[in-house]
Amino acid sequence: MDEHKYLLLERDLPKSWYNVIPDLPAPFPPPLNPATGQPANPGDLEAIFPVALIEQEVSGAPAVPIPEPVREVLGAWRPTPLCRARRLEKALGTPAKVFYKNEGVSPAGSHKLNTSLPQAYFNKEQGVRRLATETGAGQWGSALAFACQVFGLECMVYMVKCSYFQKPHRRTMMECWGANCIPSPSDRTQAGRSVLAQDPECPGSLGIAISEAVEDAALRKDTNYSLGSVLNHVLLHQTVIGQEAIAQMKLAGAFPDVVIGCCGGGSNFAGLAFPFVPLKAGGKKIRLVAVEPAACPTMTRGVYAYDFGDSSGMTPLLKMDTLGHTFIPAGIHAGGLRYHGMAPLVSLLHRSGVVEAVSYPQLKCFDAAIQFARAEGIIVAPETSHAVCCVIEEALKAKEEGKEKVILFNLSGHGHFDMAAYEKYLAGELSDYEHPEEKIREALAHLPKAG
Ligand SMILES: *Cc1c(COP(=O)(O)O)cnc(C)c1O
Repeated sequence: MDEHKYLLLERDLPKSWYNVIPDLPAPFPPPLNPATGQPANPGDLEAIFPVALIEQEVSGAPAVPIPEPVREVLGAWRPTPLCRARRLEKALGTPAKVFYKNEGVSPAGSHKLNTSLPQAYFNKEQGVRRLATETGAGQWGSALAFACQVFGLECMVYMVKCSYFQKPHRRTMMECWGANCIPSPSDRTQAGRSVLAQDPECPGSLGIAISEAVEDAALRKDTNYSLGSVLNHVLLHQTVIGQEAIAQMKLAGAFPDVVIGCCGGGSNFAGLAFPFVPLKAGGKKIRLVAVEPAACPTMTRGVYAYDFGDSSGMTPLLKMDTLGHTFIPAGIHAGGLRYHGMAPLVSLLHRSGVVEAVSYPQLKCFDAAIQFARAEGIIVAPETSHAVCCVIEEALKAKEEGKEKVILFNLSGHGHFDMAAYEKYLAGELSDYEHPEEKIREALAHLPKAG
């Protein structure tokens, strides 16, 4: 029988996270204090982050140990399976071999528990009682809700309003795990109230929800803030994916020619791709491809500049690919890919040519997701459908060229809570949205001075 999956044992779960910082082709531009334009003082972050995570944010160590209590919880579903999409290959008639790392097998249904668990753990260790966060489509909020439940913390989630109403069951999931979830913009914070005063019908954005959660954490002594993507320590925590994948590809007797992941803030892509960066630098021929939606084209149409991480300008400035912190994307269904910026580490690797970026409109992505579902059975998250779209393109290109290419992608999550989006797609009610150039230019005009 042909093999379909390559499995590791629980004891093979990596003991440390891989840190890409020492392997970067250029020095990492430090976050800046927006008031002074000088590098931010790590101490300034202590109002909202625990010391252990701030240390990881700036660490130059090649590897960072994973605490045993975190490994123990992860061990319930990790190492995740590496699968071969044989039926998809056959359906496409391609000589390419397609492999995927299935992060959808976690209790929250995505890769996000890989970082929510250590984040909750390090906060608990420092005596923090409550975490505040934002969530777009709800995957991050639910992952943090479960992690807080595991380590005994309260959890407060500001959920982008359009997703809150599109995906009510994600909220119920958070409540099952003991969290509190409200739509953002809300009247609970100054940031939310000022947006509502200008536009009572505002559908919300990740930038606004981040402002609300940061304000909540900054104003309460017992509360810290937690971010599900973008920051260095988040990407670090996701590298269990790529480390496992490298070991599993060995079991499969193959090495990828191309590694693909969808990109919102960049964490699942980085988690799979970063452990391949030193192999690429060492001479292995391998392409690392980051996929984003055409409606939020941060890497393909944004600029590489210092910008705020949130919409009201409360965070330090990060050097990243950005569409401007005032950018509010269309309400596409890949809610997790609607962030105005890109992780500074992914951005740097993109701008130095180590990582390629492509973008696709949503209809083509749903098309690809349906093809994948009919071949492989798994109905992927709308975010993940962007990676699948790129995989199918690469596999068809291999067919044209008659090449036996090896493709590896991150199946970042399942789409079981996204049936409303699939329903609309199947009913022909979804449309594509290219962000107009003048709106991008307008948002970029509001970049802070330091850029
Ligand atoms: C959150 C999420 C994403 C996007 O976030 P990244 O930080 O870019 O990984 C992609 N896929 C799924 C399933 C998600 O939940």
